[in-house]
Amino acid sequence: GACLYLVATPIGNLEDMTMRAIRILKESDIIAAEDTRNTMRLCNYFDIDTPLTSYHDHNQEQGGEKLLQMLRDGKSIALVSDAGLPAISDPGADIAMKAIAEGFAVVPIPGANAAITALIASGMTTQPFYFHGFLSRNKKDRREGLESLKKRQETILLYEAPHRIKDTLKDMLTILGDRHIVLARELTKKFEEFLRGTTEDAIEWANSNEIRGEFVIVIEGTQEEQEEEVEWWNDLSIVEHVDQL
Ligand code: SAM
Repeated sequence: GACLYLVATPIGNLEDMTMRAIRILKESDIIAAEDTRNTMRLCNYFDIDTPLTSYHDHNQEQGGEKLLQMLRDGKSIALVSDAGLPAISDPGADIAMKAIAEGFAVVPIPGANAAITALIASGMTTQPFYFHGFLSRNKKDRREGLESLKKRQETILLYEAPHRIKDTLKDMLTILGDRHIVLARELTKKFEEFLRGTTEDAIEWANSNEIRGEFVIVIEGTQEEQEEEVEWWNDLSIVEHVDQL
């Protein structure tokens, strides 16, 4: 019957698809995807032949109404984004709110998420943490975003696109000061890498290496009134794990 499933998909490693996610995608009447071509590849890999429809940031109004009408018609919808959890720096929260407001069941199908995956292996305090997602693309707003993080004592999690990482690191140094940070790169993929050091170390590294792949930035909260707990940060460390896949 009518139901909106929010289905997690892998963040780079197809083995992270869950058995339940595969079953729900197979059994749903329709899959609403951020990018149908991308999701088509996933469906082919797992032998899923459910029809696809497009639902992304640019058609939330119309697309949302279309999905709501399907729910009213008694259809079950599986919403997926390109990677990880829908509604986390991806479309999904808006349609979930509207579906809930109309009394439909909204069912999460959990799985991979880049931020939490980075956090657990960061070597930093994992609780409490603050997930910020992407900073603004606009320089002024990005700086304001960083200003708003300055007083936070929690471990901070940011998403960033590879072509903006250098600028973001420089703004982080200016606004947050030199902190202990971790760059978690290509999580779950063949060349996963954790760079642990300070903001200055990371800038130096970014200046002398080609920056490729996807990153989560993990930032130590402000240490005021807190004693140092972690000991790994005296030296820059870059640890790569090559998956045997
Ligand atoms: N919905 C996704 C989730 O649950 O993690 C996040 C989607 S957001 C549009 C994409 C951003 O997530 C990337 O720019 C990067 O910061 C982060 N990300 C996604 N996959 C990643 C990976 N394999 N390794 C590191 N960061 C990743």
